[in-house]
Amino acid sequence: MTYRIYTFGCQMNEHDSENLAFNLEKMGYEKAGEKIPDLFIINSCAVREKAVQKLYTMIGRAKEWTKKGTILGIIGCVSQVEREKLIRRFPHISFVLGPGSYSYIKETVEKAKRGEKVVLTRWDNNWWETKGSVRIKPAVAYVNIMEGCDKFCTYCIVPFTRGREKYRPLSLVLDEVKRAVDKGFKEIQLLGQNVDSWRWEEYKFWNLLDRVRRIKGIKWIRFITSHPKDFSEEIINIMAEGEPISPYVHLPLQSGSNGVLKRMKRGYTREEYLKITAEIRERVRNSSIGTDVIVGFSGETYKDFLQTIDVLKKVEFDNLYSFNYSPRPLTYALRFLADDVSKEEKTRRLRQLQELQSKIQLGKNKRFIGKTVEVLATGRSAKDEKAFMGRDATFRVINFKYNGNPIGKILRINIKEAGPHSLIGEVADE
Ligand code: SF4
Repeated sequence: MTYRIYTFGCQMNEHDSENLAFNLEKMGYEKAGEKIPDLFIINSCAVREKAVQKLYTMIGRAKEWTKKGTILGIIGCVSQVEREKLIRRFPHISFVLGPGSYSYIKETVEKAKRGEKVVLTRWDNNWWETKGSVRIKPAVAYVNIMEGCDKFCTYCIVPFTRGREKYRPLSLVLDEVKRAVDKGFKEIQLLGQNVDSWRWEEYKFWNLLDRVRRIKGIKWIRFITSHPKDFSEEIINIMAEGEPISPYVHLPLQSGSNGVLKRMKRGYTREEYLKITAEIRERVRNSSIGTDVIVGFSGETYKDFLQTIDVLKKVEFDNLYSFNYSPRPLTYALRFLADDVSKEEKTRRLRQLQELQSKIQLGKNKRFIGKTVEVLATGRSAKDEKAFMGRDATFRVINFKYNGNPIGKILRINIKEAGPHSLIGEVADE
């Protein structure tokens, strides 16, 4: 029996797929490789309309396989929202599981094999009980610390797909990190929709970082995603103390206009955002800041947009994920705020934003030429199949050639060339 999992979306989804793969392998399933799988699971993402359209296309294509006997299951955020509707629209789907129901995979697959349709979207009380993971990335271990979100930003579907915030107990997080380090993983990525709101008994997120960094053998500890409203002074203090806490932070801005931030219900102002990022720049050595921006949200004028441009210039982000606004089901914005910026205008603003960011990134990356950086090699280069890639402390992608297999090693790389999105270097020594 063979399986294949296709994953859309964020690291949370990737990690859910890793956990699911572990359970499937315990059930006797093996990876299908290039063959048509006996079980095909698509882990869906509902955050943007584009990903949902791609999901529908993939479900449509999978029909050919189901005719040959493949069982098709849809999991992830779209499952939680669409539930039975998915099976009504695509009757060749055998089961739909929401993010809180993955522990029922065994019973679900057995029922599907008997020809029953299954739709399950309730939250299992022991959602945090990760039995194990088939890690997708060599050397990088994802460790979930929380799930869900209480913020209810007006544009965001996550509180409806992942539910309210739930925190994973400290001891379980530490145990999983220790197991990963014992297996040789050098980078730990602590995951959650709002990692900095994690708490357990008297512990806060910075205490968790402090406990994790005491585990010997970790090169970098990263955490994704942070919310500016919860990003405390204590977190900056601990980042300022350096490795193994990575100097990289992903801190979504979404908009640089106070009016838009208010309509988004983000809970901070541009001034507060600028204050936090200035402090990170000042206190954390080699700090690196990534962000997300939504362009063309309800009521965004060109003047508002220029406020976002202004924040980009001031902070000089090290990376940026930017998107046109698209209303999502169930959200406040869909019901009460007009989607009143035209598609053409959104695209024009997005292009302007990305062109500026590209210049900023190129300028910053060029400053690395001639420097030697430590890189954790994680795979083949996406640019050159004869080369490998990895990331440095600042989360930059570095491509390099290597005789043999460097994956999982930490290498010193001399940086020779820089583009806006990645660097090219040569191994300095071993
Ligand atoms: S903080 Fe806002 S954008 Fe982030 S997951 Fe929660 S509701 Fe969505």
